[in-house]
Amino acid sequence: MSMTQNPQNSLSIAQNLIRCVSVTPDEGGALDYLEKILSQAGFTCHRLPFSEEGTPDVDNLYARLGTSSPHLCYAGHTDVVPVGNEADWDFPPFDAHIEDGILHGRGTADMKGGIACFVGAVLADLKSGKPLNGSISFLITGDEEGPAINGTPKMLDWLEKRGEKIDHCLVGEPTNVTEIGDMIKIGRRGSMNGWLIVKGKQGHVAYPHLANNPVPGLLAVLLAFYGERLDKGTEHFQPTNFEVTNISIDNKATNVIPADARAQFNIRFNDLWNGEQLQAWLHKRAKKALKDTGFDYEIEFLVSGDSFLTDAGPIIKTLSAAITDSTGMTPELSTSGGTSDARFIKNYCPVIEFGLCNRTIHQVNEQVPVAHIEQLTVIFEGFLGRYFLK
Ligand SMILES: [Zn+2]
Repeated sequence: MSMTQNPQNSLSIAQNLIRCVSVTPDEGGALDYLEKILSQAGFTCHRLPFSEEGTPDVDNLYARLGTSSPHLCYAGHTDVVPVGNEADWDFPPFDAHIEDGILHGRGTADMKGGIACFVGAVLADLKSGKPLNGSISFLITGDEEGPAINGTPKMLDWLEKRGEKIDHCLVGEPTNVTEIGDMIKIGRRGSMNGWLIVKGKQGHVAYPHLANNPVPGLLAVLLAFYGERLDKGTEHFQPTNFEVTNISIDNKATNVIPADARAQFNIRFNDLWNGEQLQAWLHKRAKKALKDTGFDYEIEFLVSGDSFLTDAGPIIKTLSAAITDSTGMTPELSTSGGTSDARFIKNYCPVIEFGLCNRTIHQVNEQVPVAHIEQLTVIFEGFLGRYFLK
């Protein structure tokens, strides 16, 4: 397989995508544009708008070329997070301006740039004229940065009902740290939020014996949670981590002992835990911390995903080899970082994640070096060649 014939292709696709204002849940023309260029390349495209009460309607795109196996799916999202304070940007966030070899704009790294690299690689591959020994699909949602209800989960369900089976999935989220090729994600930690209330007795600050201030109780519970390590990490995972994200006491009066005190926390957890086990661990320590204090407490929990490790040996090797071929680097296989739609896909097929660098994602002045776009396109071309044995 030859090197990319037109590396400019990925760059111009990235620019065209970035110029679509597709802040979740707005499609902004991004899916229309992808549908157009993929249809021209022979893909069969399906627009999949989904809705559910209480969430915004979201449009999605599924495009497939070929019907035989192996079936390689590239999954990603064209929605982006809001720009924040537009005046803080060096260049307008939807202009896709290039200056000194850097592409600027919202979504450059997360993850329109990554999608553009894969589309560019596929188009170059098809142009080579060699037959495709299998099929390629794109599963592109407009609901990754939002509630993630009317996107990937419903698309996967739709595919299953049609009897379409994906053999391997590559999620194009930005995984690299500083260089293209330094990190592949092969799983993700789980995430659980908790809301703690410690209830005391309200009263006058001058008569504390008639009240029971819940603040020392709240602090005791939080220190108990912070005071003990949950684990030391496992072969592929960082240690499980507890973080308080908010403390609040709804009281403006300076002479009142408040009735209750609240804290919000998040736990990112590895493959030693699930949500229920964590909840039991927390309750045991909260009860001990508040023993004989007269405080009541309650904790509400929301588990937004369990941890997972992909069973994707061959595809990890194929991608690693393509990376080493073109960069000389051996990628680290990691489970660090936040959650992504891979948490849904892993229930259907082996999934790995690889894309651009994540240094500026969700920030003001999100940006990507043009050289990274070219490098990632070349890696994807090598990956396609190896995957389809060309
Ligand atoms: Zn993303």
